[in-house]
Amino acid sequence: ASGYTLLRDPHYNKGLAFTLEERDAHYLRGLLPPAVVPQDLQIKKFMHNLRQYQLPLQKYMAMMDLQERNERLFYKLLIDNVEEMLPVVYTPTVGEACQKYGSIFRQPQGLYISLRDKGRVLEVLRNWPQRKIQVIVVTDGERILGLGDLGSQGMGIPVGKLALYTALGGVRPSACLPITIDVGTNNEKLLNDEFYIGLRQKRATGEEYDELIEEFMCAVKQIYGEKVLIQFEDFANHNAFDLLAKYSKTHLVFNDDIQGTASVVLAGLLAALKMVGGTLAEQTYLFLGAGEAGTGIAELIALEISKQTKAPIEECRKRVWLVDSKGLIVSSRKSSLQPFKQSWAHEYEPLTTLYDALQSIKPTVLIGTSGVGRAFTKEIVEAMASINERPVIFSLSNPTSHSECTAEEAYTWTQGRAIFASGSPFGTIEYNGKTFVPGQANNAYIFPGFGLGLVISGAIRVHEDMLLAASEALADQATEENFAKGSIFPPLTGIRKISARIAAAVAEKAYELGLATRLPPPKDLEKYAESCMYTPVYRNYR
Ligand code: NAP
Ligand code: MN
Repeated sequence: ASGYTLLRDPHYNKGLAFTLEERDAHYLRGLLPPAVVPQDLQIKKFMHNLRQYQLPLQKYMAMMDLQERNERLFYKLLIDNVEEMLPVVYTPTVGEACQKYGSIFRQPQGLYISLRDKGRVLEVLRNWPQRKIQVIVVTDGERILGLGDLGSQGMGIPVGKLALYTALGGVRPSACLPITIDVGTNNEKLLNDEFYIGLRQKRATGEEYDELIEEFMCAVKQIYGEKVLIQFEDFANHNAFDLLAKYSKTHLVFNDDIQGTASVVLAGLLAALKMVGGTLAEQTYLFLGAGEAGTGIAELIALEISKQTKAPIEECRKRVWLVDSKGLIVSSRKSSLQPFKQSWAHEYEPLTTLYDALQSIKPTVLIGTSGVGRAFTKEIVEAMASINERPVIFSLSNPTSHSECTAEEAYTWTQGRAIFASGSPFGTIEYNGKTFVPGQANNAYIFPGFGLGLVISGAIRVHEDMLLAASEALADQATEENFAKGSIFPPLTGIRKISARIAAAVAEKAYELGLATRLPPPKDLEKYAESCMYTPVYRNYR
């Protein structure tokens, strides 16, 4: 290939890092200025430029440009500056990017499958240049973060998630495939937006929807085989639970909103208990929000309690209470509840507000998964603080503006006694002369390592015990030093190591359960996981 082509192929391009020998060997003479710049200096320069931007969205666009220009530089920069860059390529900024995707759109970064492709999905998949796919992240754009229906513009999410699969979990970029399934959108604003990039029609539902998904799932298995991981992302809950239940029997599927969230939050709780004392079974849990995140977390908590106490899961579920938009979920509401809420409808008096439910149930743990910003008012947080010496309060809704309360509010209203974690990042907080580093229950702690574990063991199905194994592996990584600052999660700077540990724990479970196909099992799974991880340092082309 000509040097000119080389410079335009993000997979090979190194920009000014091409050595003089390489420039000579690959017809690059004169196409680059004389200076030779090593990768670290390129990163320093790029970070310097990035920090000049005032708006997060400008940073996001600069990063997307870099990904399209020089893949290895993009990933190296992301890994080396993970705490600073995660909020740019992922929540909260990716949310804003999706909202404005139509106008900032430059290049398609993934595969679009729309209703128009019905009957031809296999053909669409074949148009993708890579064949050895290991991880697919797919959305239908109906519930993007806490932002609702963004239709085709949801593409930012699979793209961002897969960037993290590579940066944090070490899955090769060429083995990652972002997909958006466009069945229309009910977002009037987008339908009337002249820059909207998706189908201009209302969402297909029922049979029409199911058929397209079914065709997609079959085509994926046909073309990539049984070991490709399909991660469902940001589907609305009326589809998410059904799709997961249906396809977990025949495919390697994972729903990050339900399962990944559950695993990371359970890890946070396990770590929090090291500060609070007591066991998981001794806590009382109250959720605001009974959707994918809320009921997903609730179920995994019950499952872990059941493992720990040997009590039947139905008993363990009774420790967990959920409030949805209509109030506390109780048995008298059963006939009108969606299927995924049924097992949480305990025998109790009907209560309509979170405050009343809280005063009546007196939880030790309060978790926000409602998407409603500032729903944990001063009154609510103070009530938690009067019930508990160390109230555990998680405000998980994303992006930041939707968080149930801020870190500052949680610490201030509890006189610094709260153990707090959030979905989107909050900075360090000073309260009463003490410095708090609030933990972020970031799914990015779990899914990259979880997926890597499935990939390296050649797993063909996901099992819930793998989620528990991942939670325990993550909880074990939080240290006394983190606890001293009020954080229940280890810093993200060590995420590649954390991912390798999680991958090893997940792979071990896969072998134990007979779900792994890569045989014989490697002796040291953690070392093996590390050895499989993609590293974005430049290679020599001679
Ligand atoms: P979802 O399936 O749509 O569920 C939302 C739930 O909140 C529903 O049960 C809904 O009630 C309830 N709700 C809405 N408004 C309410 C109100 N005013 N009062 C009480 N309940 C209300 O959404 P999801 O997937 O669970 O996500 C929820 C939030 O969690 C999002 O903001 C998302 O960003 C966040 N999240 C965070 C993490 C993380 O921190 N790692 C991971 C995943 C998701 P109805 O059922 O009655 O409609
Ligand atoms: Mn999601």
